[in-house]
Amino acid sequence: MFRNFFKAGAGIALAAAAALAGAQDFPTKAVTIVVPFAAGGPTDTVARLIASSMSNTLHQQVIVENAGGAGGTIGANKVAKAKPDGYTLLLHHIGQSTAPSLYRKLPFDPVKDFEPVGLITDVPMTFIARKDFPPKDMKDLIAYVKANKDKVTYANAGIGSASHLCGMLFMTAIQTELTTVPYKGTAPAMNDLLGGQVDFMCDQTTNTTGQIKAGKVKVYAVTTPKRVPSLPDVPTMQESGLKDFDVAVWHGLYAPAGTPKAAIDKLANALQVALKDPKIKERFAELGTEPVAADRATPAALGKHLKAQIELWSPIIKKAGVYAD
Ligand code: ASP
Repeated sequence: MFRNFFKAGAGIALAAAAALAGAQDFPTKAVTIVVPFAAGGPTDTVARLIASSMSNTLHQQVIVENAGGAGGTIGANKVAKAKPDGYTLLLHHIGQSTAPSLYRKLPFDPVKDFEPVGLITDVPMTFIARKDFPPKDMKDLIAYVKANKDKVTYANAGIGSASHLCGMLFMTAIQTELTTVPYKGTAPAMNDLLGGQVDFMCDQTTNTTGQIKAGKVKVYAVTTPKRVPSLPDVPTMQESGLKDFDVAVWHGLYAPAGTPKAAIDKLANALQVALKDPKIKERFAELGTEPVAADRATPAALGKHLKAQIELWSPIIKKAGVYAD
């Protein structure tokens, strides 16, 4: 009996040692970053940029997988339930903090079910419309949508997406509810906007800058209190009369809860290296954003930020009275 006890003890010690060694060797195979929106959109763009650099640091392939739908909650849920070994990650944005207030039955807990890796970037948003949409500036747009609220359509990436949040803030501010058209991401929404099937939307500069500069869409305003350096002629919402309008889409990288610390540390280091990469900084700047400061690209900073953002958005969403099942 004593011998069996000894054997069992040795077995447990061996398993623990193997798990530790596994985490220290991490990664020994490709890492997947799940983006909870369609390919080609703004969240996907951020993910693909950092994935290539992280791959160089980790000496393994870093693959981006798109799992769009339900405002990002389908992809987030997939990672919440994935094996906590560091090989399946989630790159999500501000929606990770608004989903618990928007969804009555969210199948995961954004805090308890994830291990934060680090913040990535804060991306301003822009109000854009199909090229032939009649309003000429934001004041005009507000008057127009109020007068035509039954026929104007607003595109978004579903309840819980950043484009949904921005639209909700806009509709609350102008006290007018509009018809929304949900997509699996704002890449397909942009296609329909370019094709004239929907009227307008609010989306990250990482998706809209190219189309704005090419003159393919009308632009009305940026959502941050300061103008965006890459779009210097575009006024802010605050300049356009909506005094408290202030939203930027922060992005973070997560692993499932229970992922070994050794793997999280390696992932956080690879993220930090990516955010210092001059090529990534340059591309971010062209797209209207920049990497977060080094002290924010850490597990602790993302954990703290996520909790603070859940607190911030909860009363605002309750006041707007928007819910999904
Ligand atoms: N921009 C989208 C959103 O509204 C997401 C995406 O397609 O990346 O949340």
